[in-house]
Amino acid sequence: MSNEDSSNAEFLQFDCARDSQRTLKDLLKKQLGQPVCVIGHNDDRKGQEAVFQNFNVRLAVVKFPDGKTLGYDPLELLLPCEIHEDGTAYFEIRQCRMCDQTFPLTSDEFWADVERVECPECAP
Ligand SMILES: [Zn+2]
Repeated sequence: MSNEDSSNAEFLQFDCARDSQRTLKDLLKKQLGQPVCVIGHNDDRKGQEAVFQNFNVRLAVVKFPDGKTLGYDPLELLLPCEIHEDGTAYFEIRQCRMCDQTFPLTSDEFWADVERVECPECAP
């Protein structure tokens, strides 16, 4: 196995959105470097991508591409739709038409003929 292959394998261990897991909070194992999309309280950063660093009390500390680190409730950190082989995370974030909650699509939902328009709580 070449070095390149092993670095790809590292990316592939990160989690994507699934029926049972859509935010960082849902992950049993929260790995350093997990890509997330921030929907939290800080409007400047809303919708930006970041990577999980560690926990500071109950807050998940994430690092943005510009090097800034901030703490968020793990519920405010959405998982990617897909992570491609080069490690690039793709997010498909939608707003529920029933309750306005923001939620991430899973890969299956994104590629489905009819895309989900309600969040999993409104339309499980
Ligand atoms: Zn909803």
